[in-house]
Amino acid sequence: MNPFHPFNEDHELLRHSFREFVKHEIAPYIEQWEADKHCDREVFRKMGESGFLGVTYPEEFGGSGLDLWSAVVIAEELAHANVGGLSMSLYAHTYLPLPLINAVGTTEQKMTYMAPALRGEKVAALAITEPGAGSDVGGIKTTAKDMGDYYLVNGSKMFITNGTMADFVVTVVRTGEGYDMSVLIIDTSLPGFRAIPVKNKLGMHTSDTAQIFLEDCKVPKSALLGYQGNGFYYIMNNIQEERLIACVMGWASAEWAVYKAMQYAKEREAFGRAIGKFQVIRHKLAQMAIKTEACKSMAYRAVHEYLEQGPAAIKIISMAKAFVCEQVQEVIDDALQIHGGWGYMEDYGVARAWRDARLMTVGAGTTEVMHEIISKLIVDDVRHQRQFVAARG
Ligand SMILES: Cc1cc2nc3c(=O)[nH]c(=O)nc-3n(C[C@H](O)[C@H](O)[C@H](O)COP(=O)(O)OP(=O)(O)OC[C@H]3O[C@@H](n4cnc5c(N)ncnc54)[C@H](O)[C@@H]3O)c2cc1C
Repeated sequence: MNPFHPFNEDHELLRHSFREFVKHEIAPYIEQWEADKHCDREVFRKMGESGFLGVTYPEEFGGSGLDLWSAVVIAEELAHANVGGLSMSLYAHTYLPLPLINAVGTTEQKMTYMAPALRGEKVAALAITEPGAGSDVGGIKTTAKDMGDYYLVNGSKMFITNGTMADFVVTVVRTGEGYDMSVLIIDTSLPGFRAIPVKNKLGMHTSDTAQIFLEDCKVPKSALLGYQGNGFYYIMNNIQEERLIACVMGWASAEWAVYKAMQYAKEREAFGRAIGKFQVIRHKLAQMAIKTEACKSMAYRAVHEYLEQGPAAIKIISMAKAFVCEQVQEVIDDALQIHGGWGYMEDYGVARAWRDARLMTVGAGTTEVMHEIISKLIVDDVRHQRQFVAARG
C-alpha cells in the first residue's frame, strides 16, 4: 500500500457518507453550539447510530472494526468542515478515554462503558490534567485511597473536555508515591463528583471544557482499569493514537485554510484587480500549500509507521505532532491575513479556525514536550547515532 495514497474504495464510500452526515447533522447547528459554548448531546447519539464514532473499534462492542485510515477519513472530513470545537469534543470522547478501556478494560467495563459510548448513548472524557500539573503527568496530586472495597478519591482536574456532559470520566489518580498512578472509570453520577464549566476559552467554543472536583468520592473497586499502579504507563502508551489524530486534523485544517484563502484571493479586488494577481499573495499561497503538503506527508507517514510498529513509532509521531501543529497555525494565520479585515470577522470562518487551531501546540502534549521526547530519542540514544553512522558506511 502506498502510504501517501492509502485510501481504497471503502474509505471513499465512508468519506462520502460522512460528508453528507456533516452537511445535514453538523453544519446547520454549529453557530448555535458555538454560542452555547457546548454541542448538543444528540450529535453523539446521531454519530453513534450512524456508526461514525467507533469506526476502528471491535465489532463485538459496537464498533465497525475498520482500519485506522477510516478514522483518518472521519478526522479529515471534520477538519474540512471547520468545526474545531465539535471535533475536539468527539475526539476527546473517541480517542482519549476509549482507547484505554479498549486496551486494558475487562469485558464488563467494555460492555458497560465503551459499547454505549460507541453508540453515542454515553459521553466520555479523560481527566489527566490538574490545576498544578499538565505536561508533568507525574506531578498530579489527586489521590485514590484504597479503602478495601472502594477507593476514596480526592482532588481536582482542570481543562477536561466533555467534563460537564460526560457520563463517565476515565481519571488518572495517585495510588502511591512517584509513578504509582492508576486509572479509574468514574461515573459522574457518584456523590462527591462535581464538574463546573470553564467558559472563558479563546476558541474551541463548541466543546465543553470543565474543572472537576472529587470530594470524598467513593469509587467502587470494579472501576479500576487494568492493574493498580500501572496508570502512568497505560497513559503513555495510549497517547500516541490521540496525537496521530491531532496531526491528521491539523493537516486537513491547513488544507481547508489554503482553499478558503485561494477562493478569497480570486474574488477580492484591490487596486483594480483580484488580489490573487499580486505576486506577493500568490507566493504566500504557494508557501501555504507547500507547508500543508509537508504536514500531510508527515501525518500520513506517522499513521503508516504506527500501523506497522504501534506505540514504538513514538519518534515519528512526536515529530509529526510538533511539526504539523506549529505549521497549521502559520498557514491559518496567513489565510486570515489574505482575508484582510474580513478575516478578523466571523463571516468567512477563518477567525474561528485561527482561534481553534491555537490549541494545537498546547493540547495532546505541547510542542516543547514533543521536542523533549524527540531530543531524548535522537540525542541521548546512542542507537540512533549508530544507525546514522551505519547508514553512511
Ligand atoms: C481547551 C483545552 C482542552 C483540554 N482538554 C483536556 C482533556 O480533555 N483532558 C486532559 O487531561 N487535559 C486536557 N487539557 C489540558 C492540556 O492537555 C494541558 O493544558 C497541556 O498538557 C499543557 O499542560 P499545562 O496547561 O499544565 O501547561 P504546563 O505543563 O504548565 O506548561 C506550561 C509551558 O511550559 C512548557 N513546559 C512544560 N514542561 C516543559 C519541559 N519539560 N521542557 C520545556 N518546556 C516545558 C510547556 O510546553 C508550556 O509551554 C486541555 C486543555 C485545554 C486548553
